[in-house]
Amino acid sequence: HAKEMGRGNFQFFTAALNQAVQRRLDVSQRLRQALAHDEFILHYQPQVKMESGIIFSAEALLRWQPPGTEPISCGDFIANAEESGLIVPIGEWVLRQACRQLKAWHAAGHPQLKMAVNLSPRQLEQANFCSLVGQILDEEGLPATALELEITESILMQRSEYNLAMLNQLSDMGIQLSVDDFGTGYSSLAYLQRFPVHSLKIDQSFVRDIGTDQNDTALVTAIIAMAASLQLEVIAEGVETLPQAEFLMAHGCAAAQGFYYSKAVRADAFSALFGDTFACTMQRPR
Ligand code: C2E
Ligand code: MG
Ligand code: MG
Ligand code: MG
Repeated sequence: HAKEMGRGNFQFFTAALNQAVQRRLDVSQRLRQALAHDEFILHYQPQVKMESGIIFSAEALLRWQPPGTEPISCGDFIANAEESGLIVPIGEWVLRQACRQLKAWHAAGHPQLKMAVNLSPRQLEQANFCSLVGQILDEEGLPATALELEITESILMQRSEYNLAMLNQLSDMGIQLSVDDFGTGYSSLAYLQRFPVHSLKIDQSFVRDIGTDQNDTALVTAIIAMAASLQLEVIAEGVETLPQAEFLMAHGCAAAQGFYYSKAVRADAFSALFGDTFACTMQRPR
C-alpha cells in the first residue's frame, strides 16, 4: 500500500516537474521572440542628491511589453532570462538602448547626467564583454565616465581572479562600478578593497525598516560609515518616505532613489522630471 502511494506521489511529482520545465521553456521561447520583435523597453528611475534635489543619474530598468499589454516588471522574467542565458543578448540590448537614451539627454541639455545599468554575472562571463561595452560607448559617442555598471555581490565572490581582471579592465576604461543590493549577500571589507568598486547601493530591505527595526537602522548607519572610510560613494535604494530621506541625510548618505522621489518611468516622463524640484526635504521646518 505504501509502495503504491509512493509511486503515486512520484508520478505526481514528475508530472509537476515536467510542467515546471515546460513553463520555463515557454517563457524562454517567449523571451527569445520578445527580443526579436522589439518588445522590451527601458524605464528609468532618477537618482537624486537629496539636499539639492538634483537628478544626477538614471537607473535603466528593463520592462517587457508584449503588444497591447501593460509593461511587465523584470521580477517576473529576469530569473528565467538568467537561467536560459538570454540575459546576454537582452543585456546587450539594454546597454545600447540606455546609452542611446543618455546621449539624447546629454544633447537635450543635461550633459552631466549619468546612466546606471544592471549587469548580470552571465554577461561578465563573456570574454569579449569589455570590448563590447567600449564599442557601444563609441557608437553612441559617450564618455565611459558617464556609464555606471551595477554589479551583484556574487560577482565579487565567484570566479574572483577572472572577475577581478574583467572589472579592472572596465574600471581602467573609466566606467564606474557600484555594488547593487549591498548588504544582502556576503561582502567583506577585503573584497571591497580588492575590487575597483566606486559606490555602494544600500539595499532597499534595510532602508524600508529605518526607524522601526533597530538592526536595519544599525546596518544602514554602519554601511554609510564604512563607505565613507573606504572613500566609496553611497546611495540608498527604495527610499519611500521623508523620514527615511531625513535619516539618511542626517547620517551622511547624500544620494537616494526610490518611490519618494519617483518610480521608474518611460523616457519621455523622465525628461519631464528634470523640471521638477525634488529638494522637498529642504523645505522642512528645521
Ligand atoms: P535593482 O537593480 O535592485 O532595482 C531596484 C528595483 O526596486 C526595481 O525593480 C525598482 O523598480 C524597485 N524600486 C525602486 N524604488 C523603489 C521603492 O521605493 N520601493 C520599492 N518597493 N521598490 C522600488 P524592478 O525594475 O522590478 O527590477 C528588479 C530587479 O531586476 C533589479 O533590482 C535588477 O536586479 C533586475 N534588473 C532590472 N533591469 C535589469 C537589466 O536590464 N539587466 C539585469 N541583468 N537585471 C535587471
Ligand atoms: Mg540596480
Ligand atoms: Mg538594488
Ligand atoms: Mg533588488
